[in-house]
Amino acid sequence: MSQKEKKTPRFLIQTLGCKVNQYDSERIRSRLLRRGYQSLLSQDDASPDLIIVNTCSVTAESDRKGRQMIRKLIRRHPHARVMVTGCYSERKPKEIERIEGVSEIVAIQDQENWVDRISEEMGWGCEDQDALWAPEQGIELFEEHTRAFVKIQDGCDLRCAFCSIPQSRGRARSRPLDEIRDECLQLVRCGYPEIVLCGICIGHYGRGLSLGLPDLVRTVAQIEGVKRVRISSLEPQHADDALFDVMEERGDVICPHLHLPLQSGSNKILRRMRRPYTMDYFLERVQTARERLPDYELSTDIMTGFPGETDEDFECSLEAVRQCQFNKVHSFRYSMRENTSALRMQDHLPPQIIDERRRELDRLADETADRVKSKYIGRILEILAETSDHANAAGFTKNYLRTDFRSAAPVPPGTLLPVHIEGLRNGRLTGRALE
Ligand code: SF4
Repeated sequence: MSQKEKKTPRFLIQTLGCKVNQYDSERIRSRLLRRGYQSLLSQDDASPDLIIVNTCSVTAESDRKGRQMIRKLIRRHPHARVMVTGCYSERKPKEIERIEGVSEIVAIQDQENWVDRISEEMGWGCEDQDALWAPEQGIELFEEHTRAFVKIQDGCDLRCAFCSIPQSRGRARSRPLDEIRDECLQLVRCGYPEIVLCGICIGHYGRGLSLGLPDLVRTVAQIEGVKRVRISSLEPQHADDALFDVMEERGDVICPHLHLPLQSGSNKILRRMRRPYTMDYFLERVQTARERLPDYELSTDIMTGFPGETDEDFECSLEAVRQCQFNKVHSFRYSMRENTSALRMQDHLPPQIIDERRRELDRLADETADRVKSKYIGRILEILAETSDHANAAGFTKNYLRTDFRSAAPVPPGTLLPVHIEGLRNGRLTGRALE
């Protein structure tokens, strides 16, 4: 059957979870596109021949959402070949196998080879052998995003008591620096103004390569044409002076924002969680960053209801929010995960206590965040426009403050422009684009 008659297979990728999962999905997408497949963006699009569900397993709720999504897609597209991958399928393949209609489960590390295998097997995609076996050049497209996430490492060597991620992502391993630099350069050339460096535990970057995260950040910041380099979630113990040096040195490009998951404000609970730092250390890092980096802002993750958490321990977490002045707190309720040391602990708390504390934490966090954001009213800040609807647009400041703004003319997503900050509404800054 000649190339022309051959049916162009259509695929749909649905991704749950973190930036790393979204990056992995874009790798699968770019490999399928290079082999002549057609990408469908929504479940309502034409009937796909192939469906990929990239699952998350950070909490029991993520597992449930994964099952729900797989079943819904199979009901909607009964003739499609359904492949499931990601953290949930790594941890619980049997639970996925039990879902009728799932064609195969693919290991995270096997995702790209799988594309070649099925292309061969199904005779799908282009027959151009060179394209088929061309070495991967990384992604050049981040579908439906104005900021491009670039995975720099995978896996984690730590064993936090509540976390199941190492079970699905394995030991820490870093991508070669040149490969990352080339991919970032490609994305910048494809028009992405902001590169977000992500991973499972990015502070582990460079282990065994005799370099570290600061070296990588400096290298990416030197790429010609890159406008913004953002460092995504970083374990507090990895927020060291070497990293602050680079952030200070290249403050013109590196965003003055870090997401440092604190998890708890109580040293007793941090020890039980097996988190390798104390509250004093965390406060010292926050203060140092604020002294060295202009407009530096900080967000975090805090968990409520870890086994053994008393009222006093929880009060320490609230006190941490008051002292650290986070621009955003992602609150999590403790979730029992199999094969974690926390599960075997005594003193598990009743769900209503966990939820009550989470509500109280959210209330204080929102109040504090509003105070943090209000200090920017009256300033002119550079915004990266992400969405735009006629004269209304929205995007992020360099220090990661979500902003809604008006403009005289529609602003194409991906545009960097100065905005006069005029107010705050529903936790978001508001303003007007300067002409
Ligand atoms: S650092 Fe801790 S919380 Fe983060 S992935 Fe590793 S084990 Fe999980």
